[in-house]
Amino acid sequence: MRILLFGAPGSGKGTQSKRIGQLFDIPQLSTGDMLRVAKKTQTKLGLEAAKFMDQGQLVPDGVIIQLIEDRIKEQDCRNGFILDGFPRTLPQAEALEEMLHQHIADLDNVVYLAVDEAALVSRLVGRRVCQNCGEEFHVSFKQPQQAGQCDKCGGPLVQRPDDEESRIRVRLETYAEHTAPLIEFYRQKNLLQELSAEGEIGAITERIQQALAK
Ligand code: AMP
Repeated sequence: MRILLFGAPGSGKGTQSKRIGQLFDIPQLSTGDMLRVAKKTQTKLGLEAAKFMDQGQLVPDGVIIQLIEDRIKEQDCRNGFILDGFPRTLPQAEALEEMLHQHIADLDNVVYLAVDEAALVSRLVGRRVCQNCGEEFHVSFKQPQQAGQCDKCGGPLVQRPDDEESRIRVRLETYAEHTAPLIEFYRQKNLLQELSAEGEIGAITERIQQALAK
């Protein structure tokens, strides 16, 4: 099964694609996570990408397309995958179509997670992530048992540089300009399913599962 889960920053695509990936036993391919690992390990790609990421801007298409093309050729993607954070522009969506035609087959499902803008901002402003393992928390909605400490590994909880309020605005504007046009792109291909991604995490996962079963 080849699934694309997309939505604005803060729509919960990371959380939900991890859950759906586990349920269907397929890898979650998050370009944001891949870039953060590259940044942390200070590879050439990571250092270059960090300049864009930390400002809330998109990393150039060519870099991202190559990253994902290399990843989907790997063995564990043979039976499918769930894309999280890619494609984010029309050229990326067209490149994905092209690479899937060449290597495997088309996407089976595209699920768009719709969330009201005020809810997006409050989710992102309050998000805290574990510096060690990447587990996510929220200052109001998902507090850790010990303040400032990850429940899973005990690592320190920090705010992502791009979750700072002024950068959130840039990310939402970037989303509206470059990524929102993908809604129409996939609607015209009769692939798009839109659902509300507000409410309890488990209930949203169920909605996604129902959409995938259609
Ligand atoms: P995310 O974790 O999906 O919110 O991504 C974090 C940041 O990584 C984004 O704000 C971009 O700077 C960069 N990024 C992730 N995926 C892409 C993509 N498909 N195209 C361009 N930049 C990306």
